[in-house]
Amino acid sequence: MEPICQLCACKSYHKVFTKKGYEHLQCDRCRSIYVFPRPSEAELIGFYQQDGEHLSDTCWQDSHRHAWDLWKQTLKMAKRKSGTGKLLDIGCGTGEFMRFAQQEGWTDVQGIEVVPEIAAIATQKTGATVYATDFWNAPLKAGDYSVIAIWDVIEHLRDVSVTLSRIYDLLKPGGVLIIGTVNRDGFSIKMLRHHAQTFGPPEHLTFFTQRGAYLALATQNFSKIHQWSVFIYLQEWTRFLPKREKTSSIQAKDTHSELTETKPTETQPTETKLTETPLFLSCMKLANVFLRLTNLGDELVIVAQK
Ligand SMILES: [Zn+2]
Repeated sequence: MEPICQLCACKSYHKVFTKKGYEHLQCDRCRSIYVFPRPSEAELIGFYQQDGEHLSDTCWQDSHRHAWDLWKQTLKMAKRKSGTGKLLDIGCGTGEFMRFAQQEGWTDVQGIEVVPEIAAIATQKTGATVYATDFWNAPLKAGDYSVIAIWDVIEHLRDVSVTLSRIYDLLKPGGVLIIGTVNRDGFSIKMLRHHAQTFGPPEHLTFFTQRGAYLALATQNFSKIHQWSVFIYLQEWTRFLPKREKTSSIQAKDTHSELTETKPTETQPTETKLTETPLFLSCMKLANVFLRLTNLGDELVIVAQK
């Protein structure tokens, strides 16, 4: 099979790099980058099954406070275009976005999450229907949804155009699709190039440009396509900071020199949460204005209408 751009269907490309044995090609028409050959379904299932880190990763525990402004903004746009109605979150994780939408007045929300343990957390958190399966096996009804959100999932999928086509069918006329994905023109990829962690095959398979996203959506008959970029992926950069010493320590205690081990989990509140501080959030807000103007945000946000 010949390489073909997942977004604009162009067959002209050039090789940009190979990582972990996976060839990354850049489309000559829309400049999106894609992994080719695409890994098989079985290969992907194997990869996600053995990568248990996905279950314990802090992103699952995160409240995503830094994303709340963005979520609010996209939901507001969706409401303006389609009115409130059924909302579906594809790859909903622990249900943070679903819960946020509920708080914003979207009472009829559903989610799809392929990892059953995580789907269970989402159900518990939202009281909503969460299908613990993949997108293709969830019993969804065509023309049923006012809003479908797919945050940081589409770049993992083997076939982007088929996914977009299915989403189009599921939306009611006038319904809105919200996508968040890796921005191929973002700051981290620009600076780190193939060293960027976001290039970690077979995890991410397609790296969208705005032009690629536009062409992919227009081909599926979506209209009113708005795009902008936000955020810098901190994990791309914090890995260059000097590693902090583990807080676990052996302390000499009282005159008997009794040795006591102090476990980090007991003495320290969990780290992270720099991203939850008001100072960080204000800086992020300011940075997002700049990133939007320059298209240098690492995350591409797309809102399109059926
Ligand atoms: Zn292309």
